[in-house]
Amino acid sequence: MSDEVEVPESHPRYESLLTRHRIERGVDRGITSRQGLIAQGRGEAYDYLLGERTIQSADRAERAAAAYLLQAENAVISVNGNASALVPGELVELAEVTGAALEVNLFNRTEERMEAIAEFLREHGATEVLGLEADGRIPGLDHERGTVDADGIESADVVLVPLEDGDRAEALGEMGKTELVVDLNPLSRSAQVATVPIIDNIVRAIPNVTDHARELRDDPDAQAAAIEAFDAAEALSAAERAIREGE
Ligand code: ATP
Repeated sequence: MSDEVEVPESHPRYESLLTRHRIERGVDRGITSRQGLIAQGRGEAYDYLLGERTIQSADRAERAAAAYLLQAENAVISVNGNASALVPGELVELAEVTGAALEVNLFNRTEERMEAIAEFLREHGATEVLGLEADGRIPGLDHERGTVDADGIESADVVLVPLEDGDRAEALGEMGKTELVVDLNPLSRSAQVATVPIIDNIVRAIPNVTDHARELRDDPDAQAAAIEAFDAAEALSAAERAIREGE
């Protein structure tokens, strides 16, 4: 993270303050919704209890997620208001390293917010941003919530959905997709239905998935091993233990 706030990097709560600042900036720019502010508060509470660190099982999840993205036929990184406000450049970099597409996908979809997020991603180096065609559907959701791009999320075999709402995560799972979820709450429905639940703060998770992807990029055996070594149920209970017992 960099120097956008007037707080010294040595401040013990530096990352947390910078994260809040980015969310505020997102609201000011019309990127983050009011519900996004509430979601941020919930995430922060879990992160505090986790010790604001990437626990070992989350690192294994991040490695497995990198392997799935690299092996995918058609991987899509779904980007919502909070994700784009917090890690715009990092999402663009992950897309580049893994060959995944970026698609804006909002819980509370408005054309203004879709455009603002696409523009913000372009400012951070994205060349192509999906989501604006709105010619695809996720079955089982109402119109606004289920609208996606036909050549993006609708046809993807692997989707990375950071901070996804539980209903949509379930519906994507029912479409048979390999779902990689970033969510600090191991008990949220999104985390529970994910093929790979990453119980970590998105600001730590995305750069770490990218690092793993760089390492695994030319090594199919190591990719298979990363997937093999990951157990979703075990990762969820390890995170819950870390939160409840500080392990
Ligand atoms: P469910 O998935 O069961 O519907 P929910 O209603 O709490 O749960 P949402 O509000 O739709 O979920 O999504 C917000 C989720 O994102 C919360 O679980 C929250 O902990 C998580 N979250 C918020 N900020 C971050 C962050 N920076 N990194 C990772 N996860 C975060």
